[in-house]
Amino acid sequence: MSSNDLAAGIIGDVLTPDAHGYDESRSMWNARFDRRPDVIVRCTDAAEIAAALDHAQSNGLRVSVKGGGHSYAANSVADGGLLIDLSAMKAVQVDAGARTATIGAGVTCGELDAATQDHGLATPTPTVSSVGVVGAALGGGGGYLSRKYGLTIDNVLSARVVTVDGREVTATVSEQQDLFWALRGGGGNFGVVTALELRLHEVGPQVLSGQVIYPFNDAAHLLRSFRDFMATAPEELQVYPFMFRVPPIDAFPAEVHGDPVIDFVLCHQNSDAADDVQPLRELGETILDVVAPAPYVEVQQGFDANLPAGQRYYSKAHDLAGLTDAAIDTVVRYVPDMRGAFTAAYFDPGGGAIARIDGSATAYAGREAPYGFHILAGWTDASEDASVTGWAADFHAAMAAHATGGVYVNLLADDERDRVPAAYGANYARLTELKRTWDPNNVFQSNHNIPPG
Ligand SMILES: Cc1cc2nc3c(=O)[nH]c(=O)nc-3n(C[C@H](O)[C@H](O)[C@H](O)COP(=O)(O)OP(=O)(O)OC[C@H]3O[C@@H](n4cnc5c(N)ncnc54)[C@H](O)[C@@H]3O)c2cc1C
Repeated sequence: MSSNDLAAGIIGDVLTPDAHGYDESRSMWNARFDRRPDVIVRCTDAAEIAAALDHAQSNGLRVSVKGGGHSYAANSVADGGLLIDLSAMKAVQVDAGARTATIGAGVTCGELDAATQDHGLATPTPTVSSVGVVGAALGGGGGYLSRKYGLTIDNVLSARVVTVDGREVTATVSEQQDLFWALRGGGGNFGVVTALELRLHEVGPQVLSGQVIYPFNDAAHLLRSFRDFMATAPEELQVYPFMFRVPPIDAFPAEVHGDPVIDFVLCHQNSDAADDVQPLRELGETILDVVAPAPYVEVQQGFDANLPAGQRYYSKAHDLAGLTDAAIDTVVRYVPDMRGAFTAAYFDPGGGAIARIDGSATAYAGREAPYGFHILAGWTDASEDASVTGWAADFHAAMAAHATGGVYVNLLADDERDRVPAAYGANYARLTELKRTWDPNNVFQSNHNIPPG
């Protein structure tokens, strides 16, 4: 079967390498990877996905599946084979009365937030607006609302899935229960998700937003104070201490350009709760201190400019057993040598609603970890690859002493296939069994792969 036959058999756009739109469709956020599928099918519904899967399997073509294209490990586009591009599946339906939203596989976090905030509603999603909701949800999905309302997966009410044999099934807490369990954390290993129904909560439209930036030279004191502050912080408040070098832009005094800093980036669901965050503003002399009400939709775009698509990125992460003095001291040792113009490292406070759900209730493991830790290295020029990734890998290795051994699967890098079992911990054995049921030939392997048991 040629790609022309494929075009005749289905309605979706079929793109070969010489076609207009091919390069846009195969592009990913992480420009370290430049992959060229043999053929791309831009699908718009389950029938097209089923036809694409059938064509790939009949012709021995490797399958990859792209939603928002933001996989740190660049899993969504493989070299060669057939790419199923879901980015055109943009439907969002909000039922404000029932407090639910049903979204297509190509919807981004920004698009979902815009539609739900029209009704003063939202669900927890990542904090960069171009990230795909379904791609994030398949691994977990955390953001500003998660300490209060859980991960994105904790708000999934149902999923529509095209299975490897082309059937479309619905998975819920009472239908296809095993599949529903596996989808909530198990990534794209079990089928192609066409739609998710999500629970919504009253949020915004105004929240309290803030950035409180301090010089890094007092980092040990700042991070210890932050840890003590978070121990009693309300669940409506999330704070990420971001560590990065000040970019040479007018928003910052010229004398600190290039210096490492700690930026307490915060979002409180109560726009009047400035008193709750006041202690974070009194830890020393600030470089910048802005805390004010802002629209939730805008707050969700706050990181967009810092992590632009088209740069080179490398991700290294751990679940931490705690924000111990020893972990803080390791950070204090490595951050001053930070490399890469877009590089940041941060702690991600957990607990709250995330930890109230039992670790075996969904495929996602690591609910008990009080903190995540993430080094996101970003740079422009390939000549810097070894220097930046070498620094990130050394820093990551040093932080292992303070980690649980687990890791959030969505943060794994391209060179960390061997860490997938650790990401799932005690849930890994059940996942490998379910993989044997739902994808025995491992057709869906361009992901953080769980081979059939
Ligand atoms: C800038 C940036 C910021 C981020 N911030 C956060 C954050 O705040 N919180 C957080 O939890 N995570 C965050 N992440 C991680 C993010 O959740 C993952 O990278 C996620 O997998 C991206 O989904 P995607 O659809 O955009 O990516 P893609 O690369 O398209 O997909 C990722 C994986 O999911 C698979 N997949 C995607 N859609 C489907 C589908 N419909 N059916 C089956 N398989 C599918 C793909 O095959 C691939 O293996 C961030 C990532 C980036 C790059």
